[in-house]
Amino acid sequence: MQKKIDFRSDTVTLPTEGMINAMMTARVGDDVYGEDETVTELEHKLSGLFNMEAGLFCPSGTMTNQIAIKCFTRPMDEVICDQTAHVYRYEGGGIAFHSSASVRLLNGPRGILSPGLIAPEINEDNIHYPNSSLVVLENTVNKGGGACYTLEQIEPIHALCKRNGLKLHLDGARIFNALVKTGDSAGNYGQYFDGISVCLSKGLGAPVGSVLLGSGETIHQARKIRKAFGGGMRQAGFLAAAGIYALDHHITRLSEDHFHAQLLADALANVSFVSEVMPVETNIVIFKMAEGYTAGSVLKSLAGQGILCGATGPDTLRFVTHLNVSADQITQAIELITRLKPVKDY
Ligand SMILES: *Cc1c(COP(=O)(O)O)cnc(C)c1O
Repeated sequence: MQKKIDFRSDTVTLPTEGMINAMMTARVGDDVYGEDETVTELEHKLSGLFNMEAGLFCPSGTMTNQIAIKCFTRPMDEVICDQTAHVYRYEGGGIAFHSSASVRLLNGPRGILSPGLIAPEINEDNIHYPNSSLVVLENTVNKGGGACYTLEQIEPIHALCKRNGLKLHLDGARIFNALVKTGDSAGNYGQYFDGISVCLSKGLGAPVGSVLLGSGETIHQARKIRKAFGGGMRQAGFLAAAGIYALDHHITRLSEDHFHAQLLADALANVSFVSEVMPVETNIVIFKMAEGYTAGSVLKSLAGQGILCGATGPDTLRFVTHLNVSADQITQAIELITRLKPVKDY
């Protein structure tokens, strides 16, 4: 049996040998006492990289996002984000649960927001309206097929938020994919955001962890909220070491994943069971089934050939490339996809 080629998500990566060595030799301590030097090193490394004052290591991107939302809102406030946003769709209703805030959903092209879309949705001060207090952007946009914001697009959104007294948070689960693609520098990000979530366990390949970045004051409050959420960790340096290793070794290679995604998209554009492939910007390929095929049956046919992927709707599938899919496996996957003859559903 051939080894499966797993395009379900860039979260399925396994730690490399170098990463495991870094983890096993990490210097650790009790991080709830502030004594784990590896956790502290990771937090400083990322806050320095993004030109922000401080960082907070958390078990997941959901936790960094939800802590940020809790820091930047009060109960009865409203959060403005795209209708595809991870913070709204995939975090278990956390905004309502943790922050007692409502959500104003926008409909950006591929999930990308602009001042023109946001401005009319900011509530004026009126007793009928929830208080608009926070805008959340996602870069890259997961449901938008890995679409990217450039800093040029972010700057006027920041200016709008500032004029209206709103905070701006970035769900940067795949921020390094965006940086590699756009050529923007991480150091220029800090000035535009009140909070940034960075995932280490997506394309960067660490087993666990995300870091929330913000001002010293924000991170002080975030640390208390993390404790209340049950996210204070003890000898977490073993995990932070994987994150440091990933930042040192797995950023520039993301361009390979982007190249692989484009190769897959080109192949998918030429098969009969696909009607449309979303333009590829980074490491995500979303494609629509042709008339007569459903995502479910094509997914099954692919799985029969050892190719795993995920459905994003009744007639759309998603491939995500990452460091555990080699160039050879991409070639192999393309051959199998080109020869695939899924049965029609209707
Ligand atoms: C994966 C992801 C997160 C965080 O997910 P966790 O599994 O909680 O780490 C947040 N935002 C986006 C856009 C994501 O893709």
